[in-house]
Amino acid sequence: MIFYVATSNPGKLRDFAAAAETTGTGIQLAPLPNLSTIPAPPEDEPTFEGNAQIKAVYYSSHAPGLIVIADDSGLEVDALEGEPGVRSARYAEDAAFASDLPTDERNNQYLLHRLEGAPAAKRTAHYRCVLAASRDGEVLATAEGTVEGSILTAPRGGSGFGYDPLFLLPKLNQTMAELDIHAKLSFSHRGKALAALLPKLHPE
Ligand code: IMP
Repeated sequence: MIFYVATSNPGKLRDFAAAAETTGTGIQLAPLPNLSTIPAPPEDEPTFEGNAQIKAVYYSSHAPGLIVIADDSGLEVDALEGEPGVRSARYAEDAAFASDLPTDERNNQYLLHRLEGAPAAKRTAHYRCVLAASRDGEVLATAEGTVEGSILTAPRGGSGFGYDPLFLLPKLNQTMAELDIHAKLSFSHRGKALAALLPKLHPE
């Protein structure tokens, strides 16, 4: 059984590719063919679930008969009342935060700026991921995963993507960017959401 993942985010694609190797269920995860030729839908819902459903429904209606999985995810920082949330990918851009850095580094720099002076105890945060699966424009199932962490004052680690170099897993004393991809998946919001979704699509 093959499920097709509708994302062009290289970090998410790496996470899903690693998950595909380890589901151990005979389920395969593959990138949705020709994704780049389909214009992206607007992601204008205020919740991760709303946006994940928009993407899954939209892309599955462009891929008749296939089961399409879409992800919406992001970082929620407690001291910032849940920012950046659904705007995680565009956090610095929304704020017109000036920087020559590429998007992920610019977002991280802006996050550090927003948390300037906040002590460690006030830097708690979590990642949230909602996955939605659809076929022919109908939602089949959704699932959510979260992981608790804390935002460092400087980046650490060279793997992962997005906010991973700043996201510390306190129990491991490692950032998401210091974990190898399989370890990341076993702790991450995306890994947990996938583990919750697959049995709903492929019971047994
Ligand atoms: P989306 O494409 O709107 O779901 O954007 C999600 C954004 O949230 C990404 O561009 C990252 O900035 C952030 N994000 C989501 N998941 C992760 C993750 O696993 N690691 C680091 N950042 C993430």
